[in-house]
Amino acid sequence: MTQRQFGNVTVETVQGDIANQPDLDAIVNAANAELRMGGGVAGAIHRAAGPGLEQECIPLGPIKPGQAVISGGHHLPNAHVIHCLGPVYGRDKPEEKLLASCYREALLLADQNGIVAIGFPAISTGIFGYPIEEAADVTLKTVAEVVPGLSNVRTVRFVLFSESDKAVFDRALMALPADL
Ligand code: ADP
Repeated sequence: MTQRQFGNVTVETVQGDIANQPDLDAIVNAANAELRMGGGVAGAIHRAAGPGLEQECIPLGPIKPGQAVISGGHHLPNAHVIHCLGPVYGRDKPEEKLLASCYREALLLADQNGIVAIGFPAISTGIFGYPIEEAADVTLKTVAEVVPGLSNVRTVRFVLFSESDKAVFDRALMALPADL
């Protein structure tokens, strides 16, 4: 695990499965607009949560790129799931602003709901085609900008599926200036 401190908030990276993070209050789903099961992260989260998650989520959709909504965790070990729709690279523009909006909205929603520890996958970097290096830069810069304004969130964990994606996030995390 790699960690960095921004004020009261620890930002860390691990290699693993976002659907298997039992010590977090909330995990973030790389959702589709309709908030249905789907593949990738959404498939893993919905499989672990059970059908109740989709039943709760469908009335909350459709959502737009950059938007986030919150639900319960159902059979997941986490109390909440925050569902974000990332931009499709090359289609939803400007990608950078929309990706940043996902992380900002998710963190603000988490804070409003008293969430202390939250985990994110690398939104948009799978089926949506966002290059991992570009996504890591936008993501970590946004998180470092937003966390000083939060009252409840104390841990932000990035759960990367591969060691190589974790290495990219680690480099971007370490490259951030201390006083953003
Ligand atoms: P998007 O549609 O937003 O691109 P995906 O679910 O296709 O979302 O993928 C987002 C990222 O999450 C990709 O880097 C993918 O490798 C990774 N990923 C896929 N499954 C998991 C999982 N169970 N836990 C963590 N990361 C995952």
